[in-house]
Amino acid sequence: MAQLKTYSVKDIDISKIEKFADQLRGKIVMPSDASYDETRKVFNAMIDKHPGMFAMCTDVSDVIASVNFARENDLTIAIRGGGHNGGGLGLCDDGLVIDLSGLKFVRVDTTNNTVRVGLKFKRSDYPKVSTTAANGPE
Ligand SMILES: Cc1cc2nc3c(=O)[nH]c(=O)nc-3n(C[C@H](O)[C@H](O)[C@H](O)COP(=O)(O)OP(=O)(O)OC[C@H]3O[C@@H](n4cnc5c(N)ncnc54)[C@H](O)[C@@H]3O)c2cc1C
Repeated sequence: MAQLKTYSVKDIDISKIEKFADQLRGKIVMPSDASYDETRKVFNAMIDKHPGMFAMCTDVSDVIASVNFARENDLTIAIRGGGHNGGGLGLCDDGLVIDLSGLKFVRVDTTNNTVRVGLKFKRSDYPKVSTTAANGPE
């Protein structure tokens, strides 16, 4: 019976990781970084997962680059938004966490009366979103 291989960021050549980091507008966070433990915290403090790398995305091109990097290197990925999922599903062990919390955008669709906002927007930003929706995009 075929064995499923578990791929880890640790198996990836450092030059590939550096190339990926250069591609991103946001930054990567690795286990060796001082901010790693802070970065891997989620709302549920019982969750103690150790991702191999975080891609702190700032825009859609960062997300595309991250998905491609994970695909090319057969990495497990987790997508993290607000980090409030009770089971900690916004994190994974060993693989790549694609963090969307830095995405800040507002898209107003006046035809359908809808507004899409990036995850960096918090409840306190909503008055600004409402103003944007009323006046059109900046
Ligand atoms: C105390 C509490 C109160 C809450 N109250 C509300 C409320 O009133 N209203 C409300 O809307 N929400 C509420 N939430 C949040 C809600 O329960 C969800 O947990 C939250 O909406 C998840 O969004 P997130 O961005 O925080 O997810 P994250 O924790 O960032 O998780 C990422 C999500 O992406 C999924 N995912 C990860 N990797 C993959 C992958 N590779 N492929 C596909 N999917 C993937 C995960 O399954 C997970 O659902 C509350 C949460 C808590 C803890």
